[in-house]
Amino acid sequence: SHRITFGPLVAAIDQGTSSTRFLVFNSKTAELLSHHQVEIKQSFPKEGWVEEDPKEILQSVYECMERTCEKLTQLNIDISNIKAIGVTNQRETTLVWDKETGEPLYNAIVWLDLRTQSTVESLINKTPGRNKNHLKHKTGLPISTYFSAVKLRWLMDNVDEVHQAVVSHRAMFGTVDSWLIWCLTGGKSGGVHCTDVTNASRTMLFNIHTMNWDPELCKYFGIPMEILPSVRSSSEIYGLMKSGALSGIPISGCLGDQSAALVGQMCFQDGQAKNTYGTGCFLLRNTGAKPVMSDHGLLTTVAYKLGRDKPACYALEGSVAIAGAVVRWLKDNLGIIGSSEELEKLAASVGTSYGCYFVPAFSGLYAPYWEPSARGIICGLTQFTNRSHLAFAALEAVCFQTREILDAMNQDSGIPLTQLQVDGGMTSNRLLMQLQADILCIPVVKPSMPETTALGAAMAAGAAEGVSVWSLNPEDLSEVTSEKFEPQINPEESEFRYARWKKAVEKSKNWET
Ligand code: ADP
Repeated sequence: SHRITFGPLVAAIDQGTSSTRFLVFNSKTAELLSHHQVEIKQSFPKEGWVEEDPKEILQSVYECMERTCEKLTQLNIDISNIKAIGVTNQRETTLVWDKETGEPLYNAIVWLDLRTQSTVESLINKTPGRNKNHLKHKTGLPISTYFSAVKLRWLMDNVDEVHQAVVSHRAMFGTVDSWLIWCLTGGKSGGVHCTDVTNASRTMLFNIHTMNWDPELCKYFGIPMEILPSVRSSSEIYGLMKSGALSGIPISGCLGDQSAALVGQMCFQDGQAKNTYGTGCFLLRNTGAKPVMSDHGLLTTVAYKLGRDKPACYALEGSVAIAGAVVRWLKDNLGIIGSSEELEKLAASVGTSYGCYFVPAFSGLYAPYWEPSARGIICGLTQFTNRSHLAFAALEAVCFQTREILDAMNQDSGIPLTQLQVDGGMTSNRLLMQLQADILCIPVVKPSMPETTALGAAMAAGAAEGVSVWSLNPEDLSEVTSEKFEPQINPEESEFRYARWKKAVEKSKNWET
């Protein structure tokens, strides 16, 4: 049969909170040629707990790879053209496994999980002046349930299998990237135990200035350093695929999902920013070679380091815990919609929340508040309120949370953003995008190829030394087409609604007192 000839192809594993994808791009044009996606189950064994099954995660990766290869073959595209694979992943989610059996020793504790709230509160209480930013000078992060160190501590203290494996030197810790790379490169028979600087910077064990695991931080959390993966750049060959149709292909890119989206959106210049709407919502602004510490509740994080000998770039980040997750909640817990797509129709049917405000602080509030004890609230209800208004309020909540981050970002940098580049699963909701432009009072720009996270990881993989099929020069890529949403309501109306939202946030923070 006729085979279409392509230049080299580059692939990415995108292991997100709600699903896993495998995607294959043409490295000349960045065109997405084929992909496959599989949903991931989340379990909520207790209030505030969120877990996923590491083996299901791994299995979903293999399944997505196989199905994508089948689809490529059906398109007459030769899979031997795939030259490199990148990994991008939900960040902070914490795993421990046994290096001798290859078995996970507990479920993955997902980043949103709140089981460490009391540990976090007691750690903060022990710092001078009850300062949640006590470790920020090294890590760029506040002490919070969000980051991996406290989750790992919980596993060592509460799961006997983990404790035993640590004592007998059989334990390996990793975020999802490490788990996948270790398994895909051979697992218990010679798998590579590594992570990249972006993922490492979210553990709270990593010094973002020296770019190494920090012995003092490890001591502070009581973590033995031998269980940590080696830290590598975001673009280099970590190892080769050990099995399956893509056996022998190098895994040569690794970036936490938000860093990957920054790369995929080509935000390589100091001051460029993007906002990704997935399970949570994450606005990152590139600050170049220098880590900038926030005075307004943002995180300082490693944006990327695209090669062993390349400099690291940093970013300021505003993280919102609940964005798409509120949609899933309306569907799974309240049953007022049957699918995420239905939400838009429902909200659009009324076009207003009718004064209803919904603060979805299910996992406390992240940036800019870092308030683990905040809880969700819905207020402003009347006899007239119905599920359509609630749906609208949920979408508005995502937009207001982004507005809070953008305000903090503008205050920290002193240079206001004039437009916002966006991506992520929720951006298929056009009503949300229009609302976002209205609430920010600046244009919102969405690329026509929405898979920017995967593109960023694929680019990093293709640009690695020893692979080098892809330049990271944005000019070399074919024109990126995009869609622009302009603000349509007047700024006074926007400010009025935002002020109401702020009042609702105060209630969610203080609802217990
Ligand atoms: P993640 O990377 O966190 O897994 P994705 O970028 O894949 O997330 O986006 C999935 C999230 O987006 C889900 O939480 C889902 O509820 C939400 N979502 C998807 N489509 C829509 C839509 N049309 N309207 C609103 N939310 C949506």
